[in-house]
Order: sequence, then C-alpha cells, then structure tokens
Amino acid sequence: MGRQAEQTTVARPLSKEGIGLHSGEKCSVSVLPAEADAGVVFVTGDGVAIPATPEFVVGTERGTRLGRGEAAVGSVEHLMAALLGVGVDNVRIEVDGPELPACDGSAAEWVALLGAAGLTKLPARRNVMRLRRDVWVVDGDSWAVASPDGGGLSLAVGVDYEGTAAGRQTLWIRLTRRRFARQLAPARTFALVRELSALRSRGLAQGGDNSNAFAIGEETYSGPLRFEDEVVRHKALDLLGDLALCGRRFHGHIWAVKPSHATNVRLARALRRALNGEMG
Ligand SMILES: [Zn+2]
Repeated sequence: MGRQAEQTTVARPLSKEGIGLHSGEKCSVSVLPAEADAGVVFVTGDGVAIPATPEFVVGTERGTRLGRGEAAVGSVEHLMAALLGVGVDNVRIEVDGPELPACDGSAAEWVALLGAAGLTKLPARRNVMRLRRDVWVVDGDSWAVASPDGGGLSLAVGVDYEGTAAGRQTLWIRLTRRRFARQLAPARTFALVRELSALRSRGLAQGGDNSNAFAIGEETYSGPLRFEDEVVRHKALDLLGDLALCGRRFHGHIWAVKPSHATNVRLARALRRALNGEMG
C-alpha cells in the first residue's frame, strides 16, 4: 500500500468453481488481467459489465450484490477484500452463476489464488488519497466512521452478540498485505443458530454448511474456530470488501460498530464522494 506505487493487475488469469453460499448453485469465476484505471469490473454470463462501485449495489442482505438491469452477481465482498488486501487495482471478473463461489467461507483461497497468479505492475501511478475530514454513516445501532490518518489504512471494529457464544468482540488492525493475509483473510462466514431456519426460509444460506461457514449457538460454536475472535475478524473482512467498492485507495482510519453490509456500502458511497471531491 505504498504511496507512490504503480497500479497492478493479475499477471495471469485465475479461475475458481464452487457452490454459492446463498443460492446453493454451482458458480464459476475467472479473474483476468485489465488495463490501468479500469478498476474492478464484473462481467456476467450474458456479457453485462458491472463496475464494482457503490452505484451498482442492488442488495446488502447477508452479502453484497451488484447488478445492472436484469444482470446481477452476489456475494462479491470476500473477493473484493482479497483484491484490496493483496493490492490488485484492475481486473475483469467473469462470473457464470448467480453469485461468487463460497470457497471455505473466507477470503483465504482468493488470496492464495491471487498469490499463485502473481501481480503485474502497470505503467500508471496508483493514486493513494488522504482523507481530509471525517465521514460518518449511522443506521440505527450500526455505525461507521472514516477519519483522516496519514499512516495507512486501519480498522477498528466492534460486534455485540451478547447472549451467544460470541459475546462482544473488538479488533484493531493496521493493514498490510501480510497482516491481511494472516489475520483477516482466513476468518470464515458465520450465522447465529437461532436465525438459520429464518434465513433458509427466505432463500438465503441454501449452500451453507460446515465446509463454508460456522454457526454460533447460545453456549458453543458448531465446530472449532480458526481464531478465538473469528466473528469480529470476519466482520472486518466484510467491511474491507465493501469499502473496496469506493474504488479509490486511501489512507484513513475506519471505526465500525455492529457493521452491516448496508452500513458498509453507505460508507463506501460517502467515501467515494468525499475522495472524488478532493481530487485535482
Ligand atoms: Zn462475509
């Protein structure tokens, strides 16, 4: 995340097949090199190009969904987090299926695939911006604030699942590529046991099982955790993936309490506006 670095893309295409967490359907994805300033663009099976920016968010229920007209692609946040965390600026992502594959519920596999593909520097400077004022987003008891901080990008996240095994958890992390890969990317998707049947009856989590998610009961978890505080780490991963939609690299500190995809995307939208206003 250097200040004067060049923009990047993947050195070689990479692809992945799997089951979608919510649809339970088979999905396949190819991540292809793209030119400088192209940003991240999803392309659906029908050939519709959907830029990964807040204007194209069409859903935030249990995942972030991008759409344009009839075309849509769901569950983009873990790959978006991996692209930001690894430092990939420009890619074309071809998707066949309603959403991205769940993988193991985390971003670890995306990080490994991007690492194996390698990055190529492009002949254009990456413009890392500095936030000049606070940007606030509040939605009920979920809120997120971005504050100026010249030292890089850092996150402070708090979640409150009192009355369950997860309880209250907080996390503070100043991001580097290595810290992202080790401390956030492996944290998996979760759901509360008490909400699982309601989610399934709404057509969500159809592909969710022990291979791609864990469940939080009142006293225990559905299986062993990767981190004692895996819940808040996954929330930080989701936050980063949604913030990647702002489409600009920036230095700042993000505070998020009980973050949701809806709040995260609103922050990305507000940040995009704020940072665009500071250009030039
Ligand atoms: Zn997630």
